[in-house]
Amino acid sequence: MIVHQAAFDGNATLLKGNLHTHTTRSDAISSPETVTRQYAAMGYDFLALTDHRRYNYKNFAPQTGLFIIPGMELDANLPGPGCHCVHIVSLGPPSDHGNGFTQDETFDSVYVSTASEAEPMLQSIYAHGNLPVFCHPEWSGNTAEEIMSLSEVPLMEIWNTGCVLENGLDSHAAYWDELLCKGRKVYGVASDDGHHPYQNGLGFIRVNAEKNVSSVLSALERGAFYASCGPEIYDFYLEDDKAVILCSPVEMIRFRHFRVPYVEQHGPGITGHQTVPVEGTNYIRAEIMDREGRMAWTNPIFLGKDYWDCRKKH
Ligand SMILES: [Zn+2]
Ligand SMILES: [Zn+2]
Repeated sequence: MIVHQAAFDGNATLLKGNLHTHTTRSDAISSPETVTRQYAAMGYDFLALTDHRRYNYKNFAPQTGLFIIPGMELDANLPGPGCHCVHIVSLGPPSDHGNGFTQDETFDSVYVSTASEAEPMLQSIYAHGNLPVFCHPEWSGNTAEEIMSLSEVPLMEIWNTGCVLENGLDSHAAYWDELLCKGRKVYGVASDDGHHPYQNGLGFIRVNAEKNVSSVLSALERGAFYASCGPEIYDFYLEDDKAVILCSPVEMIRFRHFRVPYVEQHGPGITGHQTVPVEGTNYIRAEIMDREGRMAWTNPIFLGKDYWDCRKKH
């Protein structure tokens, strides 16, 4: 029996989008119209204009055909030294589908003494019918314990283009594996978080959804997407005892579970690989890298007790 990771369930064409974007509505240098046009020209299907503490539903360039996921970015600031904070992108449905935020609604920065005190900010995102994305944990100076001190978030950034290009941070998924190993069910997002035009267009997600906001949000919630900086993933599935990935030609394919990289396969131009998950692991995911060093990451397939009980019987 084959069980596909949710991104590859069915025959839908995967939509391309970016969930974390800044404009002149907060501290970036391009207008929302310019940014929207830039992403549309790069072939994106959707975009969230998540300016700091200022909610947006509006499509500033509707003639492009790109659609807007409503959203913003909220922050809670922790005591120093250095950068120490919690940033969360809030993404929601259209206003007539239960989104409690309003266009241009603004918020203040929150000041807290521990990360767990950011919980009311997180809960207000849920209370307004929105979905949180935990942002750039390395740039924010977070520990995995800080993330674990908050309620579960369904989505977290495993790549943030702005933080990578400006600071060499949030270029890998170490936090993600730590949370997954501890039993958190969290899906990995690649975002741009661009504040300058050159930062736009490197980190994106490919979503198994229809071309509308509600369908994309529902797909995000159930992990029906993958994250990429370039390479394409065509399938990721379990077939009996094997995990299998199929992808565009790359130089490296690696499976991860238990925070350990397993079964690295190196190119040139490899387009698939498989492994047998190590008994007892609660998830398996795969990541790939092309000749230019650009990565892509599948979301995990979760391997519960039922899976391992079933495997023992065979
Ligand atoms: Zn941020
Ligand atoms: Zn940001």
